[in-house]
Amino acid sequence: MSTLSHVHQLFSTDTCHAYLRTLRWKDRPLQCPHCHSQAIGPWGTYHYRPGFKRYRCKACGRTFNDLTKTLFAQSQRSLSHWIVATFLLCLACSSRRIARELGRHVRTSYRWCWWLRNVALSYEMDRHLEGTIEADELYHTAGKKGQATQGGKKHLGRRPRRRRKKREPGRGHYNKDRPAIIAWVSRQGAVVVQAVRDFTVSTVQKAADLAVQKGSRLYTDSASSYQALKGYLHAYVNHTKKEYARGEVHENRAECLFSLLKPFLRVFRGISKANLPGYLGFFQFLRNSRSQNAFQQAELILYAALDPAIASRARKGEFVQCFDHFSLLQTPIN
Ligand SMILES: [Zn+2]
Repeated sequence: MSTLSHVHQLFSTDTCHAYLRTLRWKDRPLQCPHCHSQAIGPWGTYHYRPGFKRYRCKACGRTFNDLTKTLFAQSQRSLSHWIVATFLLCLACSSRRIARELGRHVRTSYRWCWWLRNVALSYEMDRHLEGTIEADELYHTAGKKGQATQGGKKHLGRRPRRRRKKREPGRGHYNKDRPAIIAWVSRQGAVVVQAVRDFTVSTVQKAADLAVQKGSRLYTDSASSYQALKGYLHAYVNHTKKEYARGEVHENRAECLFSLLKPFLRVFRGISKANLPGYLGFFQFLRNSRSQNAFQQAELILYAALDPAIASRARKGEFVQCFDHFSLLQTPIN
């Protein structure tokens, strides 16, 4: 056997396909993806795709296979590419790194990562925290990376900046390319991470209402936006007086979460503010499934990607839109 340059070459097509077939029909009834009828019969195989089973629906007469209407349907690349890409995504690799490891073009890998992240967000849609919750905020530099307003020669609409986006003085704000990130960490284990435009009282109140159940116990630092929150049992520690914990009142878990979030975001070498909510949502998914190893997390994503309804919404980016709190939490201008 010759030596290999990419790990997916070790995977056999039949194993990958049998694995995804098991995953697709594991908890779902074998039904027609076109009309949802369960009157199904076998309908031979594909001569150009060994191992692929074909089925025929007796109700609508159309044929389908195990991948019809899933995220992997009609992909030019083999399933082993998809499985390795999902695994590397769960190890927090950037899309450029994944492209290198697969030997594929960066644009392919970027598109796949975008879809797979969307699929992962489907698990985080109705995440509501209750019990005892810690909160903390962070400002993260996020500009307009990779966004040309027109095709062809890349037009930035501004002077190109130097190696790193320099931050402006003062508090961060969406309009200053430095939006705020709020982390809500439940002491029962779950987390919610949100990117918001600013850190005003009304924004924080709306963000809290989205993330936290009313009446929960909330521990924060002494920022005035937290002190104005209504509907929660609130206690805070005063960092300016060097008070970091008072009995069980502290926010060390929330600060610890940021120490994990920062290296996670650093891998991408700058994120545009348009994409920041999607990356944060994926980090939230990884944290909330942290009891599992990276391949089990990848399996969760693959399982959801095999659902036709989730796959079509993920391709349109609908899940990320629900995570985009920039417009949702925008304070109306009077
Ligand atoms: Zn049918």
